[in-house]
Amino acid sequence: MELTVLGKYGPYPAAGGATSGYLLKTGNTNLLLDCGSGVLSRLLGHISLEQLDAIVISHLHSDHFLDLFILRYAMQFTKLPSLKVFLPNQPSAEYDMLKGGGTFELITVHDGMRIKLGDAELEFWEMTHPVPSFGVQVSASGRKLAYSGDTNLNPRLTNFFSGVDAALVDAGLMSYDKTGPAAPHLTAKEIGEIFAKIPCPQLLLTHISPRVTDEQVEEEVRQGCPTALAVKEGTTYII
Ligand SMILES: [Zn+2]
Ligand SMILES: [Zn+2]
Repeated sequence: MELTVLGKYGPYPAAGGATSGYLLKTGNTNLLLDCGSGVLSRLLGHISLEQLDAIVISHLHSDHFLDLFILRYAMQFTKLPSLKVFLPNQPSAEYDMLKGGGTFELITVHDGMRIKLGDAELEFWEMTHPVPSFGVQVSASGRKLAYSGDTNLNPRLTNFFSGVDAALVDAGLMSYDKTGPAAPHLTAKEIGEIFAKIPCPQLLLTHISPRVTDEQVEEEVRQGCPTALAVKEGTTYII
């Protein structure tokens, strides 16, 4: 599998950057994982919209889905058939706006749901966040990626990441940002603690705050997993 980072920032981008968006290419399937601000223009640098098979939206926070509205203009203008979008059914104005126009075939995900798209198998895991949020494991060609979406620390994460070849993980906070248990994101230190207890896969850190450097995030995580890397936008990682 090939994972190309289109946007790595959250909840807002650094200058010239984009928020969450990842193109995952398996043998015969092209998936877009999240579609935050600035992601569409980057996506079009890699594939045409005709080549996109489906989109997974981890949750309905703007830094993960806002470019769907612009993608809809592109699809309507070029008269493309509707596109499958897997997402939580969160009653909200945003969800209602996505429903309209017939551009997207919205498919509600639930915990434990498994689907097959071409040669890729997806399994959704509910995470902990202020709104319904799902991590997803994607398996293809004997390899497995786990993408956390946005999540606070929760006891399921150890199982979610166990046995995967690569993990793409929300590193939205530094340890000093966490003032109580109800934080919306993992801290870099917590990620290190999770991966200190299980075999460390190819560990890719994302949802990076523009207020910190990649090196600061890596330093906290590497206390538990010395090979952890903060992802770079535009880079393709072979899984
Ligand atoms: Zn986010
Ligand atoms: Zn979020």
